[in-house]
Amino acid sequence: MTRAIDVLHLGRDRVICAYELDGLVVDPGPASCVETLIERLGRTRPRALLLTHIHLDHAGATGVLCRRYPNLEVYVHENGAPHLIDPSKLLKSAAQLYGDDMEELWGEVAPVPEDRVRPLEGGETVEGFRVAYTPGHASHHVCYLHEATGDAYVGDMAGVRIPPYNHTVAPTPPPDIDVEAWLDSLHTIAAWSPQSLRLTHFGQVNDVAEHLHRVRCALTDAADSARLDGEERFVARIEEAIGEATDPATVECFEQAAPPDQLYQGLNRYWRKKAG
Ligand SMILES: [Zn+2]
Repeated sequence: MTRAIDVLHLGRDRVICAYELDGLVVDPGPASCVETLIERLGRTRPRALLLTHIHLDHAGATGVLCRRYPNLEVYVHENGAPHLIDPSKLLKSAAQLYGDDMEELWGEVAPVPEDRVRPLEGGETVEGFRVAYTPGHASHHVCYLHEATGDAYVGDMAGVRIPPYNHTVAPTPPPDIDVEAWLDSLHTIAAWSPQSLRLTHFGQVNDVAEHLHRVRCALTDAADSARLDGEERFVARIEEAIGEATDPATVECFEQAAPPDQLYQGLNRYWRKKAG
């Protein structure tokens, strides 16, 4: 049985969801939420973490958890692994986005001992999960298909959708958004024909094909808007759409999980890179 664990980021529900099944934790969340995670794991002692990628909202707690559980193993894409072992570059990049809020948002980002890290390439099967390399949101993103149930754990690749609504936003923060790669990765996920998607932001999605279509549209619309509209108009469009489709409490969840100004920055950087 899979458990969806709301780690209550900054005390807010429906922002960051970790998953536990059979002692495996997919994306434990940030260190600032680690006590909530551990409390909600109850008597379960995690034996391994399956990381979709190393962004702090997904994997920031990894080092702290390794200290707490001396046998804990960590699966992560090989391109992300060095930045878990030495998080200095990751922290520098995150500090550019979050500045003085780093500590409050993410807590302690402890280094992960190298001997705990199990690097992935994509294409292998580990712990009953098929692994696919799925760049686009991050160049080191992987997704996991649980073979026994057909549930796909997709990190940020299938967007941000806050229940009970189906409005979907593509999380496109800097530094390595790649729209074409992302669209290809969505095909990779669709080709699994998963019976459900498990999003970090937030929870379970059962209308898989419709949802993946929404992600594609959200991503390409946002990419066009970033190219054509400029930041102010881009942010206003994103906020307007969320406001129309959801309610004020849910708007806050979206803003926290995917700050609109960062969505613009990531896409703007993508277009500038493309233009050379
Ligand atoms: Zn991310």
